[in-house]
Amino acid sequence: METGSFIRGNYRIWPRIQTAVQLIYPPRCLGCGALTESDFALCGPCWSDTPFIGGTVCESCGVPLPGDPDGHRIECDDCMKVSRPWRDGRSALLYKGRARALILALKHGDRSELARPAARWMVQAGRDLFRDNMLLAPVPLHWTRLLKRRYNQSALLAHHVGRETGFQVCPDLLVRPVRTPILDGKTAAERARTLEDVIVAHPKRRHRMQGRDVLLVDDVMTSGATLSACASVCLASGANHIFVLTLARVAKDA
Ligand SMILES: [Zn+2]
Ligand SMILES: [Zn+2]
Repeated sequence: METGSFIRGNYRIWPRIQTAVQLIYPPRCLGCGALTESDFALCGPCWSDTPFIGGTVCESCGVPLPGDPDGHRIECDDCMKVSRPWRDGRSALLYKGRARALILALKHGDRSELARPAARWMVQAGRDLFRDNMLLAPVPLHWTRLLKRRYNQSALLAHHVGRETGFQVCPDLLVRPVRTPILDGKTAAERARTLEDVIVAHPKRRHRMQGRDVLLVDDVMTSGATLSACASVCLASGANHIFVLTLARVAKDA
């Protein structure tokens, strides 16, 4: 709950109002709706059911890896095979089980209130990525999808990560313009890929990333192809180092 300046002048009244609000709207678990002790939390069973990433992780994508860190950079098989145009990446959750359900609810449902707790998990997972004067930018949603949805969940996550960390957020640093590229003579798969790949720096925003480290924010990392396209655009626009922070990482089952 936001207190802001209100609490400073009315610090005696505020706890009473808060108690009254909690009586009317008691905090509920984000996963199952059961009553919880605090707002924006998961109940015990949902918490233990949600695959949070911890321990040793791939420096490039944040997927959990076996063993203890030995002080050297370690990467997963995927990241060793495909070189990533970004420096380091982290992810808060594995995309499965209850995490998958939460992300689908954020993406397709009306559960935009999930973005704030999700951003806190991301800040926790990405604590080693933060650099001075970093600029945060979401992966742009494909325009055909933006038409169907009311919001871009990556932009919403970036907004909340910015609020938690104090870093500047540029929601339209990268865009996928509506104009369709020339598709004549291409197969259906090629057309789909071409449309997917047309990510550009916003002409009026691109100067903001010059010489700065950029943190790209997305909800789910699968192959990393879209994040690679975004990172390459940022580097071509003069950004310094690129970092990647996602809510969840799709990992192959071991
Ligand atoms: Zn629950
Ligand atoms: Zn990796």
